[in-house]
Amino acid sequence: MGKAIGVDIGGGSIRASLFDESGKELNSKLSPTPEDLNNDKFLKILKDTIRPLASEGQGIGVGSPGPLDNENGLLLSSANMKGLKNLPLKEELKKEFSLPVWYENDANCAALGEAYFGLYKDTESQLILTLGTGVGGGFVQRGVLFSGYLGNGIEIGHTTSVIGGAICGCGVRGCVESYFSTRGFLRRYSEKTNTHLNNAEEFFQLVRNKDQIAEEILHFGTLALAHAVRGAVHLLNPEAVVFVGGITKSYDLFGKTLESEIRSTIFPVLNDRLKIGAGGNLSGALGAASLVFSKEKV
Ligand SMILES: [Zn+2]
Repeated sequence: MGKAIGVDIGGGSIRASLFDESGKELNSKLSPTPEDLNNDKFLKILKDTIRPLASEGQGIGVGSPGPLDNENGLLLSSANMKGLKNLPLKEELKKEFSLPVWYENDANCAALGEAYFGLYKDTESQLILTLGTGVGGGFVQRGVLFSGYLGNGIEIGHTTSVIGGAICGCGVRGCVESYFSTRGFLRRYSEKTNTHLNNAEEFFQLVRNKDQIAEEILHFGTLALAHAVRGAVHLLNPEAVVFVGGITKSYDLFGKTLESEIRSTIFPVLNDRLKIGAGGNLSGALGAASLVFSKEKV
């Protein structure tokens, strides 16, 4: 049975794990990353984190927040690790460990992990949306990730749901992420009530308590998300749409509306076959390791 190393680069830490083909984690190592990073310091920590696992893996898959250049294996820059710039991540790891290395953004890795090990792993194709601080996405067909040119495809969070709508973190108005994401919910709530909420849990607790403004924001956000998904379903014709990420913990509060709005607005022929649901929240490291399993199958 093949084994793969998955590396999840987050804002404050790097996690490397060894998995078997069933997705079972056999070993792992976690290293915190300091604030004052530069390329050399970061690479040393990264290599030290992977090293204890390297002898057993048949390849290394790496996921990090974008933007990145997956053709050339470069981490271009990082919002959370400001000292990093044009880091030749793939080349450095290949040289160090003499193993094949694949590198994708973390949303794409999450999508691939869900497609391989998640709710609808037996379907032909999956559109996966990561609902969290923002909205990420990925599309996997026959076990292969669609990454787009240089690896920044399926940025569904920045597709427009409301023309001329609320300003998004990307600087443009009306992105679905402005209406259905932790950032979006908190901003909309603060606009309407001048109340600052700290996280999605607080927002969803208000919904559970029947706070009318929170309910309205969630309802409108759900419709905005449904219409972004509608557009993507017509473009991609996936067999399954799967929602993952922290916000899916509250799927009971919006899932029914979301699913029925998607189903009632897509072509009937697509609706007949489409599966929709909330997946599990698999680890980022497993998603990254799925890059190895995916390439092994090609
Ligand atoms: Zn945007």
